[in-house]
Amino acid sequence: MDEGTLKSKFLGSLIGTGVGDAVGAAFEGSFRAEPEEIEAVADRRQVLTYTDDTHMMIGIAESLVENEGFDGERMAHTFMKNYEREPWRGYGPGPPRIFRLMRAGEAWDKVTERLYRGGSYGNGSAMRIAPVGVLYHDDLAKLREVAHKSSQITHSHELGKEGAALQAYAIALAVNLEPSEVFEPKEFLAKLSEFVHHEVYKQKLANVGILSTEIDRAKVVAELGNGIEAFNSVPTAIYSFLSHPRSFSEAVLYAISLGGDTDTIGAMTGAISGAYLGIGSVSDKWRVKLENRLYIEELAEKLYEVWG
Ligand SMILES: [Mg+2]
Repeated sequence: MDEGTLKSKFLGSLIGTGVGDAVGAAFEGSFRAEPEEIEAVADRRQVLTYTDDTHMMIGIAESLVENEGFDGERMAHTFMKNYEREPWRGYGPGPPRIFRLMRAGEAWDKVTERLYRGGSYGNGSAMRIAPVGVLYHDDLAKLREVAHKSSQITHSHELGKEGAALQAYAIALAVNLEPSEVFEPKEFLAKLSEFVHHEVYKQKLANVGILSTEIDRAKVVAELGNGIEAFNSVPTAIYSFLSHPRSFSEAVLYAISLGGDTDTIGAMTGAISGAYLGIGSVSDKWRVKLENRLYIEELAEKLYEVWG
């Protein structure tokens, strides 16, 4: 793959997270919405403001760039500092409590256990994982390790960590594919199934395969979920991408149209689609309105330099 294509995928995945999050945010908690309506709402807005998903994705990218790789303590501190600066980004109840405990001296890799017995399996560590997926797209052992360790900061349950790793791996697979070649959804899915260890995810991915041509959105939601748990959102994002592999807009609008945790499922779908199709696939009318776009693009370019 030539350098330009690869760099475009780094940009596509990070900007894709932001656009999916910002477009989806207006529909968070909705039952279902039509893609045309979602697009019209995004078109009417002057600025596409992102939420905690992209805010934390930025924190991961900043920390990976600054350390030229993963450092758990520093990543946790970056999350904390970013949160303290912009606490209004729509964070759930967990992160503020985690950051308060960290400020009080709790260790970054132990703090989440204090709040949730057995750890959280929410989708918060998968929603922000794009920088890990692109940076380690050619080193799967490292990708899994960093996905798990970055998850540990806020989501230490096995299902939370595995959800982050699965989402990171879907992004990595998408980065590795040449977008001008024929796309094979079955092959993509088989690799994901081989990668995940946990039975819950294996079953969900089997459902993704069965649904491959399903158009009934109620059935898709019933089988895959659209909730805040990692296993009820990562497979849904993967399905949204696989059922619309050739168009960033169609994939993201479809994901959001399923309702539920729309900003997060939009962000995750955008991260995979952007990683496959590159930044050129993200429609300009959305890209130029994305809040802090230039900064996110700068981070993606720096991340590409860290890789190279
Ligand atoms: Mg959010």
